[in-house]
Amino acid sequence: MNESTLPLARRAALLGAAGAATLAALPGAAQANGVPPQRGPMPPRFHRLKVGDVEVTTLLDGAMQGTNANIQNFFPDSTPAEIAPLRERAFAIEAGLHQPVGAYLLNTGRNLALIDCGGHSSFIPTTGQTLAALRASGYTPEQVDTVLLTHIHPEHALGLSYDGTTRNFPNAEVVVTQIDHQFWTDPAMESRVPQGQRFIEAARRAIRPYPGRIRTVEMRQGLEVIPGVFLEPAPGHTPGHVSFRVTSQNQSILIWGDIAHQMVIQLARPRWRVGVDVDSAMGVESRVRTLTMLAEERILMGGVHVPWPGFGRIIRDGEGFLYVPRPAQFA
Ligand SMILES: [Zn+2]
Repeated sequence: MNESTLPLARRAALLGAAGAATLAALPGAAQANGVPPQRGPMPPRFHRLKVGDVEVTTLLDGAMQGTNANIQNFFPDSTPAEIAPLRERAFAIEAGLHQPVGAYLLNTGRNLALIDCGGHSSFIPTTGQTLAALRASGYTPEQVDTVLLTHIHPEHALGLSYDGTTRNFPNAEVVVTQIDHQFWTDPAMESRVPQGQRFIEAARRAIRPYPGRIRTVEMRQGLEVIPGVFLEPAPGHTPGHVSFRVTSQNQSILIWGDIAHQMVIQLARPRWRVGVDVDSAMGVESRVRTLTMLAEERILMGGVHVPWPGFGRIIRDGEGFLYVPRPAQFA
């Protein structure tokens, strides 16, 4: 063993105090006890698989952490006694509701399309990594030709523009249902937004730099929004909230926006209303219909708040449903 292969602590001891100071100053140098320093924030993350001929890449935008006090407001039909065992089952005892935030990039061979595009740290400090994850995944924002929005909520749409002036996807067409577009832009609708002006301002900021580039579509079952990508209505969370079904070579994946924010509690109790829905009774119907369809078809699914890396399937479980994650696979 020569000097350079000695553990750092012993090297430091051999070098004396001045040498130890030099070692400590080097980036990534060990502390005096030989333990490397903690590495801090994680790099941008992505994961991908093929659905038929379509390459689907999940981009991790960040996460949102609700407080314990918020849970009852989030599920107004619940009681603390009902919530407790469900949280225990989810191993979510200490923390409030945790929601990852992601986006899905589709390379269909004809389009490079993004389903939702994450948020921004100005609105939720722990979001806004979609562009970095997109670049890390080997693409550039300039290459994205279509952004498909499930709805115009901040952590789904603010990735379009952070400042209300700059297009983060300068060459993209933005596709959104006519109903959702009107809901967020028509002053007559403002009183119906449960979250109030802050969400309204964020929605308008997101789409403002895309005049002439927004394609509003009818909220119609099976509408083909780009070749091979079909719309599935899911109104309630917002009036024009939709999912997207991607089909290729007899394989399909359904990607939802906010059919569920929490994959244990809400799938076990799909009929619990959600406090942040514009029409929570309609939201329940959309959730039950979507989960029933996925359990029957057994197809792959994803969703903006689905645990990383964002792919799984839905099965029935008693009166409710269960999310079965698809493990990350690399071959
Ligand atoms: Zn959401």
